[in-house]
Amino acid sequence: MLSWYHSCRRDLPWRRTDDPYRIWVSEIMLQQTRVETTIDYYERFVARFPTVGDLAKATQDDVLKQWEGLGYYSRARNLHQAAKEIVDEGGQLPDSYNRLIDLPGIGPYTAAAVASIAFDRPHPVLDGNVQRVLCRMLRIEGDPRRTATRQELLAAGEKLMPSPAAMKKRTADDDDPGEGDPIEDGPGDVNQALMELGARVCTPRKPDCQACPVRSWCRAQAELDDPTTLPLKPPRRERPHVEVTAGVIWKENRLLLARRPPGGMLAGLWEFPGGKIEEGETLAACLAREIREELAIEIDVGEPLASVDHEYTHLSITLHALQAHWRAGEPQTIGVDAWEWVTVEQLDDYAMPRADRRILERLAADGRPLEPDQAGPK
Ligand code: SF4
Repeated sequence: MLSWYHSCRRDLPWRRTDDPYRIWVSEIMLQQTRVETTIDYYERFVARFPTVGDLAKATQDDVLKQWEGLGYYSRARNLHQAAKEIVDEGGQLPDSYNRLIDLPGIGPYTAAAVASIAFDRPHPVLDGNVQRVLCRMLRIEGDPRRTATRQELLAAGEKLMPSPAAMKKRTADDDDPGEGDPIEDGPGDVNQALMELGARVCTPRKPDCQACPVRSWCRAQAELDDPTTLPLKPPRRERPHVEVTAGVIWKENRLLLARRPPGGMLAGLWEFPGGKIEEGETLAACLAREIREELAIEIDVGEPLASVDHEYTHLSITLHALQAHWRAGEPQTIGVDAWEWVTVEQLDDYAMPRADRRILERLAADGRPLEPDQAGPK
């Protein structure tokens, strides 16, 4: 497996560095995000914040702006908070699993990945790709979400780590004849080889068993008609759907943006304010009510501008954007964290949820860019 990995592993930017900070950033981004999507974000992020100190000094708005479009924004907020804690402790990323896992946003997976790749610590990584490979190779038929199965997988992963004796040779002085030749592959290589195998060969629906470097040892391939029956899959859950309004609210030549409150979904992102439609409510009535409840201002609602469908992990939404015009009142931070009147040109400076950004893209694609003179009371 390691020979295969070294001969055809993908050349990814975070594999060209041994900087623990950059490895950590890449591992956080790679949770929930595809490798191809991560590359550009990673390169922009480390160019903007080259060190943990630069990240710690940044504002949350700046960090979220760099993250905009990647989703799962708690990852960015936790990364930022962890950077501040690291700087408070002297500026070095902890080099052990147990200290890494104490940082915000670092769970067992990321702690094992960073400890093994950046610091050569023998901790197996159990992401979805590795779980799939191990379940198939060893014919583990339990549910990987259950503790007993996870422990079985962890034990299997630990057996694949270089032995303590091999690690001793690896870390010993090369000139010391008593220690023998250091081994080339460390725990990080083993973990990355397993992850690469799961991502590229032992894929969820179409494993390429003929080309697989561990085929001779794989029980699922040898014993089952269909290796894809492993790992055991969770039952599909229905995703609730909600209809949501968003107001493109003008006051002269400026638009109202509201920052979502901390602690909830999309916390800290700036959006066109609005909210969920209640049963029997029209889009216009919903928007006027939400704006009154959350910001204590009165608006005149105009025409619908565009609607987009968007999927989150736990729900799907249809976001209906409506033209509107401020009528009375100074906005208050009742259901929002902050608010600002901004020009159309300034919208790019704010980190916005993907659904709001798609409204802007839809209008631009239709040749209907936002303009103040489109606005007006109905
Ligand atoms: S032989 Fe097939 S099922 Fe087994 S690990 Fe390789 S790709 Fe996966």
